[in-house]
Amino acid sequence: MSKQQTHAFQTEISQLLDLMINSLYSQKEIFLRELISNSSDAIDKRRFEALTDASLLNDDEELAVTITTDSNAKTLTISDNGIGMSYDEVIENIGTIARSGTKKFVEAVKNSGKEDADVSLIGQFGVGFYSVFMVADKVTLTTRKAGTSEGTQWESDGKGEFTIETIEKDRVGTDITLHLREEESEYLEDFRLKHIIRTYSEHISLPIKMLAPAPLDEDGKPQEDVEREFETVNSGTAIWARPKSEISDQEYQNFYQSLSYDMEPPLSTLHHKVEGNMEYTSLLFIPKKAPFDLWNRDNKKGIKLYVRRVFIMDDAEHLLPHYLRFVKGVIDSQDLPLNVSREILQSDRDIKKIKASSIKRVLDELTRLAKNESEQYQEFWSEFGQVLKEGVVEDMANKDKITPLLRFATTQSDSAAQTVSLDDYIGRMQEGQEAIYYITAESHQAAKGSPHLEVFAKKGIEVLLLCDPVDEWLVNSLGTYNDKPLKSVTKGDLSLSDEEKKAQEEQKEELSSLTEKLQDVLSEAVKEVRLTYRLTESPACLVADENDPGANMERIMKAMGQ
Ligand code: ADP
Ligand code: MG
Repeated sequence: MSKQQTHAFQTEISQLLDLMINSLYSQKEIFLRELISNSSDAIDKRRFEALTDASLLNDDEELAVTITTDSNAKTLTISDNGIGMSYDEVIENIGTIARSGTKKFVEAVKNSGKEDADVSLIGQFGVGFYSVFMVADKVTLTTRKAGTSEGTQWESDGKGEFTIETIEKDRVGTDITLHLREEESEYLEDFRLKHIIRTYSEHISLPIKMLAPAPLDEDGKPQEDVEREFETVNSGTAIWARPKSEISDQEYQNFYQSLSYDMEPPLSTLHHKVEGNMEYTSLLFIPKKAPFDLWNRDNKKGIKLYVRRVFIMDDAEHLLPHYLRFVKGVIDSQDLPLNVSREILQSDRDIKKIKASSIKRVLDELTRLAKNESEQYQEFWSEFGQVLKEGVVEDMANKDKITPLLRFATTQSDSAAQTVSLDDYIGRMQEGQEAIYYITAESHQAAKGSPHLEVFAKKGIEVLLLCDPVDEWLVNSLGTYNDKPLKSVTKGDLSLSDEEKKAQEEQKEELSSLTEKLQDVLSEAVKEVRLTYRLTESPACLVADENDPGANMERIMKAMGQ
């Protein structure tokens, strides 16, 4: 047996632990959800690995999470027979290597400015394990990885250091024992524990077990010295496999929250059972609020793929396009092989069909919301609009479905809020106006204040004010909408009547000597000096050529080093 080693927690983790230890948060109970969720992940992994290596799972072994208490020792133990961890994995996963979310979570809690910050979001940040230190002053974790014979024990009081050593452990999986603080003894009570499990983990699709109450004696008192049996506390069935009509809103909501760690209910729930040549069930949720890592390119999670109830992988990439990365949910296929890999997913025809239908379901739902529940749609847009805009560029096949969902800020109002659809815009076009005009700029303020808008304001023509980073790409890929071309106000000429054109030609002649002179003086700096009719208040402005990239695109290209 190896000597015990002591390691220091990584700095950011230490900061996180300080927050946990000194917490006054009211939602301490979520530590149990975090541990159960880790156990459930570990069991899913073991089941998955056993698909290719049957020796990792014994036929007679029931995969479950077991929760026991010892009221004398004041300990609570959560045990699973999941994949377990090797010695090195324990060091890596718990204590020495900070996840990208560690710092973000610490900042989120500190910045919340509330005494009672929303620590329940911890799971979203990938650091849920550490929530145990809200209720425990010492934690002992023992684990043995499936396929290995040695166990590992990790122990810490959360104050700067942990110890680790090799031990003997007879069962594969992980046991986590919390030495509860004096004031947290409520977590020794079965009643309280069951309530927490049913609140947060009801729909985890594996059994969560606790000891059943002792049978009563003749006087109605619990018998002592009898062996108590384990009973399953949660429903333990896959909610998506049940008929829609039997699932309550509350059940959907609980399941969504266990998937997403979101405290809000979802905006929409889309549950479909598809039968026929290809059988599968999909249960998708559109959230109300964006998660902290919406902009993290590496985050490819969100849709869990199951094959006949066996969890295969969390992979949003092949099941939904990147621009729908805010959607959470489950897809359970009847037909895919259990040993399906990422490579197979990439080229599988059934998966492509499932993906196409899922996109359609989400976009149809957004279309419905936009039409019938515009207030809710507006809230959705302010959270996820920037992401949905990527869809116009990324998903040509669905461009026509996405475009009417877009919302913009325009010169119609002073507000920077994006509320105007292209159909609204077209409905307000001036007589004879043929194009949809827009301006791109770094900020709403800059767009709004541009001298290019003067002539449009004078003519009463509405202009889209675009200042999101993706907007330049968006308008380039849009090209036209309902046969109306999108035109930048900084490029080319406004279309004019014949009379106006004639008057302008005359003026151009008259002032030609001036423009030529200016052209000479400025030849180093500009391509051409021309007379303009766009300005009503400013004396001059810079414009891009029809064929040049827009000014904003130039900025973006510069930023990318081109
Ligand atoms: P997350 O679950 O988001 O990865 P956690 O802080 O909850 O973050 O857990 C950190 C890591 O520790 C997990 O990713 C996993 O590798 C490991 N781990 C935690 N609990 C268990 C467990 N019961 N069995 C196996 N591995 C676990
Ligand atoms: Mg976790």
